[in-house]
Parts: sequence; C-alpha cells; structure tokens
Amino acid sequence: MIRRIQAWAARLLVLSVLILFCAGILRMGIWLLEHHAAVEETFEGARSIEPVERKPGSRLIVLDAGHGGRDQGTSAGEILEKEINLSVVKKLAEELEDAGATVILTREEDVKIGLEERAAFANQNEADIFVSLHCNYCEDDAGVQGLECYYREGSDDGRILAEQIVQSVETEDGIKNRGTRTADFRVLRKTDMPAVLIEMGYLSNKTERERMTDETYQKLLAEKIAGGILKQETSETE
Ligand SMILES: [Zn+2]
Repeated sequence: MIRRIQAWAARLLVLSVLILFCAGILRMGIWLLEHHAAVEETFEGARSIEPVERKPGSRLIVLDAGHGGRDQGTSAGEILEKEINLSVVKKLAEELEDAGATVILTREEDVKIGLEERAAFANQNEADIFVSLHCNYCEDDAGVQGLECYYREGSDDGRILAEQIVQSVETEDGIKNRGTRTADFRVLRKTDMPAVLIEMGYLSNKTERERMTDETYQKLLAEKIAGGILKQETSETE
C-alpha cells in the first residue's frame, strides 16, 4: 500500500514539474512576442504632426479610424474593427474631398496611435470638424444592431453635427440606426471643434457583421455619413 502511494506521489511530482516547465516556456514565448511587437510598434507609431494646406474657402475635416496596430478594437473571428474603421474612413474621405472639403486622416495605415494624440492632431491642425469611426459589440445580446452617433454632453455643435449625420443615415432603409447619444469619450473631450464618434454597427450581430465587411455597404455608409457632415458645412456658412 505504502509503495503504491509512493509511486503515485512520484508520478504526481513528475507531472507537476512537467506542467511548471511548460508554463515557463509558454510565458517566455509570450514575453518574447510582446517585446518584439512593442519594439516594432514604437517604430511604426512615431508620426510627426505637420500643418496641412487647406483648400481655399474649404472646411478642414479630420477623420479618425479608431484603433490600429496592436489595438484591434473589437472583433468577431477574423473580422477586426480596426480594419473596417480604416476602410470606411478612406471611403468617407473620398466623398468629402469630392464635395470640396479638405480632409486629413489621423491614420492611413494599420498603426497604433494614442487617443490624446488623435485629438491633438485635430487641434493643432485647427480642424473645423472631427469624426471618429468605430464598430460596436454587444456581449449580452447578439440581436442588437444599428449605427449610433455620439457627441460630448454640453456641446451644442457636437449635438447638431450628430443629429445631421443620423438624419442623413435615416434616409437609407438599408442602414439600421439607433440615434444620437452622449458619451465621455476621450477623443470627444479633448478636441476643440465639433466632434462626433460614430459606432457604425455591431460586429456581434451576424447580419450587421456581414454588411460591415461588404464594400458596397461601406460605400453607402460613407455616402450617408458624408451627407450629414456636409449639411453642417452649408448650414454654418449660409
Ligand atoms: Zn472602437
């Protein structure tokens, strides 16, 4: 009996050592991966903020594709928020530029940029409008879908801009819409101009997730959001 116990104890000991050894290797691997990524990131992420030449008489709009680099935002399987944000931002930039606006992007590639830096970029360029694009995710209810447009509480300009964007989106039956909301997002708090953050849709919802990755739907989203932003332009210059 004692021998059996001894044999089991020996096995348990060997097993524990083995587990500890594997955990150690795994941790080292993770550390190496993280360290490597961090080195790469500071290299990529370093960007200078240079003033932008504004087309005469045009408004300067800063578009911000949320997340980037190691910060992927929310995700559903292979679908990453950071990629959708950038893809729609580029389409939105095109729409606005075609309408005569001067547009600059906080990021044009897959790089990580701090929230403060995004806001500072808009402030230093003395932008007239700041628009940040994101995707949403609801853990509790996969049925939730629709675009939401956020502005900073107490900002009348922000509210008007958000309302105009939502009104423009509302004219399109194909886009679900959950209206305007207020939130204390840092990019809204730190920007000096009318600013909105648009959660374009829920990656947790199957239908919306499929739409969000579709080029045609992204183009439609960009068109409608641009319509709302441009309304702000005319209403203020008139
Ligand atoms: Zn986001």
